[in-house]
Amino acid sequence: MERLAFQKIAIIGLGPRGLGALEALADCATARGVRLEVDIFDTYPEPGAGPNFDPREPQHCLVNIPLRDIDLRRPEGLDLTPFAQWLGPRFGKDDFPPRAEVGQYLEQRFDKLKDTATMMTTRHYPEQVECLQRKDDAWHVHTGPNAHGPYAEVLMVPGQPPTRPDDQLADWKAHAADRDTTLAAAYPARALEKAAEQWSGQTLAIRGFALSSFDVIRVLTVGQGGRFAGGQYLASGQEPACIVPFSIDGKPPYPKPATGEIDARYEPTPDETEVFRKAVFEASKGTPEAAQAHLTDALATPVFRILSTFGTEGIRSAVGDWLAREWSDPGCQEDASALEVLKDGVAMAEGVSAPSIGYVVGQVWRKWQDPLRQAYNPANTPPATAAAIVGFDEGLKRYSYGPPVSACRELMTLIDAGIVSIEWARDPDISLMNTGWQLNVRDQSVTATVMIDAVLPSPDPQQVVSPLISGLMTDGYLTTLDDLGARTASDGRLIGDDNEPVQGLSLLGRLALGSVIAADSLHDCFGASSKRWAEGVLSRLS
Ligand SMILES: Cc1cc2nc3c(=O)[nH]c(=O)nc-3n(C[C@H](O)[C@H](O)[C@H](O)COP(=O)(O)OP(=O)(O)OC[C@H]3O[C@@H](n4cnc5c(N)ncnc54)[C@H](O)[C@@H]3O)c2cc1C
Repeated sequence: MERLAFQKIAIIGLGPRGLGALEALADCATARGVRLEVDIFDTYPEPGAGPNFDPREPQHCLVNIPLRDIDLRRPEGLDLTPFAQWLGPRFGKDDFPPRAEVGQYLEQRFDKLKDTATMMTTRHYPEQVECLQRKDDAWHVHTGPNAHGPYAEVLMVPGQPPTRPDDQLADWKAHAADRDTTLAAAYPARALEKAAEQWSGQTLAIRGFALSSFDVIRVLTVGQGGRFAGGQYLASGQEPACIVPFSIDGKPPYPKPATGEIDARYEPTPDETEVFRKAVFEASKGTPEAAQAHLTDALATPVFRILSTFGTEGIRSAVGDWLAREWSDPGCQEDASALEVLKDGVAMAEGVSAPSIGYVVGQVWRKWQDPLRQAYNPANTPPATAAAIVGFDEGLKRYSYGPPVSACRELMTLIDAGIVSIEWARDPDISLMNTGWQLNVRDQSVTATVMIDAVLPSPDPQQVVSPLISGLMTDGYLTTLDDLGARTASDGRLIGDDNEPVQGLSLLGRLALGSVIAADSLHDCFGASSKRWAEGVLSRLS
């Protein structure tokens, strides 16, 4: 009896990564013939989908991956329908499906796992975990007044918990509270859509011009009854008078190639991918300078080859110069305006114009996200090297995490129609007024009565507002890489302040950025990290 109780595992968080971890655990338990009991803790009402793929979110909030590339590893022991087949003919392979559809699919996967896993029983507690305690070699989970346990292993998969507002946001919160102005969050998008019913005819600003701003702009336009037809925007009359997105560099991300055929031109060869895998492996062990050299070499060959297939007069040194500038100041080298990025991006994505060096680098990097994770995540990368490689990856997201080309076309149409203005897109001076936020660029100004925050918060656990995370830091179980996320071992176990893996306590996902890379991805939730964690658990239990 005692031994059975000790086979108990707790999972904190049941978004896609919690589901991916459960599926990996079920597979390992079946393979090893070990019977497990798993308690899952999460108050969020959409098990398996989590907030980002919540089936209640509007249909116009899209996944940033075309259907042709969505590949969610399925556990071997469960007969699960692949996502594209489950969706049916409503979406083509080049479409970017709604995130809500992915969420519905993931919820059904969770139900199926719960009902049919042979070696694993699960119990779901809709409770928020506030604290973990270690006693007699086991973990105890505290959720307000309730205590659960003992557990041999605990996995935390909390996604991005709320964080302390940065200085700008803290000022703006105080400003909005004191005056008759509104500071709104981009998500949940359905709440924003409802609130926007009151904002018809007003001027709205959006802080952040990355992927989330595309969701926000759709919520404020098609979400208010407008529609696109024949290359035009047909307004409903419920829209804001003007939507003003802005960010530090003022540039939206570049769209992904429009079709599978165009995308195939950016495919690295298997040999190039193998060279890259080895380069990441070497890069993760050495200095930042050595990492730059290894990864630059691995990238230059396919980038040069691909550029040549487009007839681009790209000489090797130009590719090398571009990469060198990117390493020294990730994400900052292009000086194009927002409109130029949109126009050039659409032309390259649709195969109408030859791609720039940056566009090719970004697409190759996107196609290498899996080998990148596979080679980087198991390594114990020195902090400065981790910062350099993660910074490079984050900078390239302007290409590798791009929206569908249709979303960029729609944005251009809205700019033409005067509903979106990019006049203040690049790093405006912002003054707080009684009536809202005045954005100033040169001698032009505009005042927004509503400010929408569409900036993704930092993954630094020290900025997270969660008694669970802060308690673990105080107890020395959770330590961080400078300015990045938590230190974890290759199987996800936290590294404590004695520099050793903490027995039976793991963390997967965004809060471990630096120990892992490219974590903001659905594919990663169902990838090798979950498998390594599950195998580690099973080997320790048996
Ligand atoms: C707006 C948005 C859109 C995105 N779109 C895409 C996309 O299109 N494609 C893509 O590949 N990736 C996308 N991502 C990246 C995305 O983060 C991942 O794909 C995925 O949602 C991460 O899943 P997760 O389980 O790690 O986190 P989450 O889905 O956030 O789940 C974490 C869960 O943990 C629970 N939790 C947290 N703390 C506690 C606690 N103390 N006690 C109990 N429960 C707790 C939360 O309630 C939550 O349900 C998007 C991210 C955002 C923010």
